[in-house]
Amino acid sequence: MHIVVIGAGVVGVTTAWALHRRGHQVTVIERHPGAGLETSKANAGQRSYGVVYPWASAAMVKKALPWLLQRDGPLKLKLPPSLEALRFMIATLRFAYAPGVFGLNKRAMLRLGIYSRTCFDDIERELALDFDGDHGGLLHLASTPAAMAEYRETAKVLRELGIAYQLLTPAQVRESEPGMTGPGPLYGALKYDTDGTGDCHLFSQGLAAACEAGGVTFRYNTAVERLVCDHHRVHGVDIRPDGAGQERLEADVFVLSAGCDSPALTRNLGLRLPIYPVKGYSLTATLTDASRAPTSTIHDDHFKVVSTRLGDRMRATGFVELAGFDRQIPERRLEVIRRSVESRFPGAADMGAATAWTGFRPMTPDGPPIIGPGPLDNLYLNTGHGTFGWTLCAASADLIAEVIDGREPVLSLDAFRPGRFSE
Ligand SMILES: Cc1cc2nc3c(=O)[nH]c(=O)nc-3n(C[C@H](O)[C@H](O)[C@H](O)COP(=O)(O)OP(=O)(O)OC[C@H]3O[C@@H](n4cnc5c(N)ncnc54)[C@H](O)[C@@H]3O)c2cc1C
Repeated sequence: MHIVVIGAGVVGVTTAWALHRRGHQVTVIERHPGAGLETSKANAGQRSYGVVYPWASAAMVKKALPWLLQRDGPLKLKLPPSLEALRFMIATLRFAYAPGVFGLNKRAMLRLGIYSRTCFDDIERELALDFDGDHGGLLHLASTPAAMAEYRETAKVLRELGIAYQLLTPAQVRESEPGMTGPGPLYGALKYDTDGTGDCHLFSQGLAAACEAGGVTFRYNTAVERLVCDHHRVHGVDIRPDGAGQERLEADVFVLSAGCDSPALTRNLGLRLPIYPVKGYSLTATLTDASRAPTSTIHDDHFKVVSTRLGDRMRATGFVELAGFDRQIPERRLEVIRRSVESRFPGAADMGAATAWTGFRPMTPDGPPIIGPGPLDNLYLNTGHGTFGWTLCAASADLIAEVIDGREPVLSLDAFRPGRFSE
């Protein structure tokens, strides 16, 4: 079949790869000049298979409200909030307090995470992609005794799902991360043994090149303006290459992987995708002293900042901000990220000279991504991966490709069904 994938972020590219491996003719349409240039560009780099969770939880709401009132707290809301932001927050609250929903979604996302590790292994075995990838584990630091108590509770779910972990004492943390010499408070850590890291942008570009070498067509610098459909099927997409006139591209099947812009393309179909662009920031710096840097990926629960080793660089990311598509990078946010790095890994890199970036997590109000058949016969959705698109892309691409081929996927897609927001 000829399949058009809309979007060449990490989700679109892995989808193209999964479809190409199953023998389909694939065309990817991307408005940017290359793959992985939007949200997949400079994220935290964690492949956190054991730490994927829905953000709509009553416990999270309780924590988040005080964060909103802190001057440099990790959660920010642009005032006055837009109608979209308010709608999104109300929908999140509805899911957070719906009985049983958080537990079901958490388990569904963790199963997807575990499966993603397997799917990544397959890709990495087949292709020697160079993306500073590693599987050295992930550390969640506890900067208070209460955080450590919470990790002991989390460990019960991990044990139930067979996810490998260790609860570490402060001495064991320093042994596992000898570069962590800073004065930040430390009461121990939860280590996810099989989680990994990697540069999502380099991976997207490398995998896109492998797809192209295999015969997949990439139409870069080309925006999809609309899906052309009747009540049953999509017949084509109206596309506009930069500086040229509109064209219509026909195909048998269409997959929507346009990240935060996915809702704009389903509006005329009567399908409301409540994906909101949740902003975050990152700083990437070349290491000046590798022995003082993280060896893997570290979540500092004090500043809510993640620091990740990517080859000879380190990247630190933070903030969850509801501000629409505002691309400004206030110095104040970067200062908090720098303070976190200084308090844990002083002397590892010159963070003052780091490259700053902002991106938008394509977040659903409940948390799980949207994976499955759309409202029309030949339209499929693989989008809305929020905070975990890099981690989950390999599994969600495999599952959507199986569904398109008419096979029963190895995991239930119930928690990810596109129609759940209007039920
Ligand atoms: C600060 C931050 C830190 C993060 N850290 C992590 C992490 O550590 N681990 C993790 O798993 N995830 C992380 N994420 C989330 C992760 O980056 C995203 O979930 C993931 O990149 C989403 O990929 P995507 O392909 O769906 O979206 P995108 O990368 O945004 O790709 C969508 C593509 O579609 C294209 N497009 C959209 N509309 C059109 C159109 N009309 N025509 C043509 N092309 C179109 C866009 O140009 C874009 O290239 C983080 C995100 C942020 C912001």
